[in-house]
Parts: sequence; structure tokens; C-alpha cells
Amino acid sequence: MLDCAIIGGGPAGLTAGLYTTRGGLKNVTMFEMGMPGGQITQSSEIENYPGFFEHDKTGMDFMNTWQKQCFHFGLKHEMKKVERVSKTGEHFTVTLESGESVEAMTVVVCTGSTPKRAGFKGEDAFFGKGVSTCATCDGFFYKDKPVTVLGGGDTALEEALYLSNICSDVYVVHRRDTFRAAPPTIERIEKKSNIHLITDSVIEEAYGDTMGLAGVKIRNVKTDELTQMENTGLFVFVGHNVQNEVLKDENGAFICDVNDWGQVIVDLSMKTSVEGLYAAGDIRIEAPKQVVSAAGDGAVAALQVISTIQEQA
Ligand code: FAD
Ligand code: NAP
Repeated sequence: MLDCAIIGGGPAGLTAGLYTTRGGLKNVTMFEMGMPGGQITQSSEIENYPGFFEHDKTGMDFMNTWQKQCFHFGLKHEMKKVERVSKTGEHFTVTLESGESVEAMTVVVCTGSTPKRAGFKGEDAFFGKGVSTCATCDGFFYKDKPVTVLGGGDTALEEALYLSNICSDVYVVHRRDTFRAAPPTIERIEKKSNIHLITDSVIEEAYGDTMGLAGVKIRNVKTDELTQMENTGLFVFVGHNVQNEVLKDENGAFICDVNDWGQVIVDLSMKTSVEGLYAAGDIRIEAPKQVVSAAGDGAVAALQVISTIQEQA
């Protein structure tokens, strides 16, 4: 029986592992289906993690030291995909994709939430080299420069507002002429003189060279007219896939409370609606989707896990 099973080895899972093991728990396993590190390993640069200010280091370099530190205190890593978490009486069963299962007193789910891709030409090739899904992370790289935003939901328009305070101009490209976002957000957008709405349009192509993105081609879906935008960063906000599959039972019902978008509802201690089950990082409601906040969540959840285990001892 594990004291704690951690699912996902990004910033939230690794930090939960560090705090639980360093806090005295002897039997903690982190199930991470790939190499630990999480989404940030796809980033070419990280500038907003306090204490880390090295421009020549990638997200992969940044996460390397996290692994060394976390495993030093006794955290075990099983490179296995978790299929499901279920509660049986007072404890949990973690079922792996391989069919094996592991019992645990507590579980911290840290499986994240992945931004969707729109599917235009060049999106993958220039991802992290001018195409981004995070304004808080990458907006500053375009200080006083123009950027293009794709999407017409709440995320796209809220992020466009954020970018409008940093960038010279924000061109919002949306495939329809009405927006999915909440009316007050649309009103705020319309009042911003440096936000320009390009409706009934899609990104046809992101183009560039080995240096990165050079520009985007925008196609009007009604007229087929192509417009070229040069020297722009491109931010894609076309929805998220919340990685919550492990929290569904065999019938597809969630074992804990989630909101309409599948994000796990937690309190300020990262407790879910199920005793002993915690959720941390990008998977939870109102996650700022940042490394620093995911790590903070992991630490908060771990401290709760330690007191839960101590109460049961
Ligand atoms: P994740 O990092 O998503 O980790 C989840 C982990 O769970 C993954 O490793 C995944 O393999 C694993 N997993 C999922 N399902 C299962 C399963 N069933 N079984 C086993 N393992 C599973 N943030 C910043 O603060 N600053 C930045 O500059 C920045 N830049 C970014 C650049 C890019 C390109 C991207 C993609 C993100 C960036 N972010 C940045 C955001 C940051 O990476 C995330 O907010 C953070 O990684 C979230 O951490 P997490 O631990 O919640 O989830
Ligand atoms: P979303 O509501 O699903 O919006 C995605 C947007 O991207 C839509 O405008 C969609 O166009 C467009 N889109 C999707 N696929 C595309 C493609 N391949 N090419 C071009 N455009 C594409 O996603 P979200 O904005 O991330 O929001 C997710 C949920 O979180 C929503 O329910 C939202 O209300 C909520 N949320 C709430 C807040 C808040 O309350 N403050 C903040 C952020 C998010 P169409 O409109 O034509 O489908």
C-alpha cells in the first residue's frame, strides 16, 4: 500500500513528490507515462520562473534539475500510464494501462491540461519558435511589437486583452463574425484601440525559416482573400483538452466533482470532493497555467497528504 500515488510528473507532480518524501513519507510513487518534466519541456525558453534567469536554457534544461532534486529524497518513478483511479473503502486503487493495479492511501492527480492545436500549415513547425499557446509565458517577447491571436472564445479574448497591454497591436483572427466569449469581455475588447478584429477568417499558414516564425497568412473564409501579416508572434487559443480521463469510472462518470469544462473542483488545499484525493496544477479549476503555480499546488497538496497520513497512523 503506497502512502501516496502521484499521477503525472510535470511541475505539480514533481513538487508533490519532493514535498511528500522530504516531509517524511517513505512510500510515494509518481506515475508518469513519459520522462518527467511535463509540458514546459516543449518550451525553448522560460523567463518567468523566479530565481531562474538563464536565457540560453530550454524548458528541458530547466526541468532536469527538478528530477534530480525530487528523486534525491526517495520519490519513485514508474514510467507507466494510469488508466483509472477508483476509491475502494478507505483507500484508492490506481489501475495502470498494462492492467496491473496499485493500492494507495492518498492520490494526487497532476495530469495537466493541454492546449488544442488549430491544425493550420506551419503550426507545429513553428510551435515554440513564434507560435505560442501562452500569453503570460511569451507575450513579453513581443513587447511593443504586433501579435496575432487566433480564436473567439473567452480564453482568446481575455489573452488578447492581456497582450494589448504589452504589444503594440493585437490582431484577433476568428473564423466567424460572432464571438463565443462572454458579452462583457467582447465589450472590453471593442473599447481597446490597439485590438483589431479580423472576423470570418482563419490562419492559412504560419511561415518562416530556421530563425523562427516570420509571418502568417490569413484567409477570409467568405471571399477567399489572403492577407499577409509580417513580423508577428502568433498566439493560438482554440480550447483545451483537460487530461481528466483517469478520474472517470468504467462507465465514463467522474469520481469527483468537475466543472462544465472538466476541470477538477478543488478547495484552497487542493482537496477534491473525495476524501484523500487531491488535484494540482493545470487540471484544476481556475489554474493560472504556469509552472510556478503548478509547483505551488503540488506543495500544498503534499502538505495535506502528509497530515492525512499522520492522522491515519
Ligand atoms: P503538465 O506539465 O501538463 O504535466 C502533466 C504530466 O502528466 C505530463 O508529463 C503527462 O505526460 C502526464 N500524464 C498525463 N496523463 C497521464 C496518465 N494517464 N498517466 C501517467 N502520466 C500522465 N509556464 C510558465 O510558467 N512559463 C513559461 O514560460 C511557460 N512556457 C510554456 C511553453 C510551452 C510550449 C508550453 C506547452 C507550456 C508553457 N508553460 C509555461 C505552461 C506550463 O508548462 C504549465 O502550466 C505546467 O507545465 C503545468 O504543470 P502540470 O504539472 O499541472 O501539468
Ligand atoms: P472555446 O470556448 O472552446 O473557444 C475556442 C475558440 O476557438 C472558438 O471561438 C472556436 O471557434 C475557435 N476554434 C476552435 N477550433 C478552431 C480551429 N481549428 N481554427 C480556428 N478557430 C478554432 O475555448 P476557450 O476559449 O479556451 O474556453 C474554454 C471554456 O472555458 C469555455 O467554456 C469558456 O467559457 C471557459 N472560460 C471561461 C473564462 C471566464 O469565465 N473568465 C475564461 C476562459 C475560459 P467557434 O466559436 O467558431 O467554435
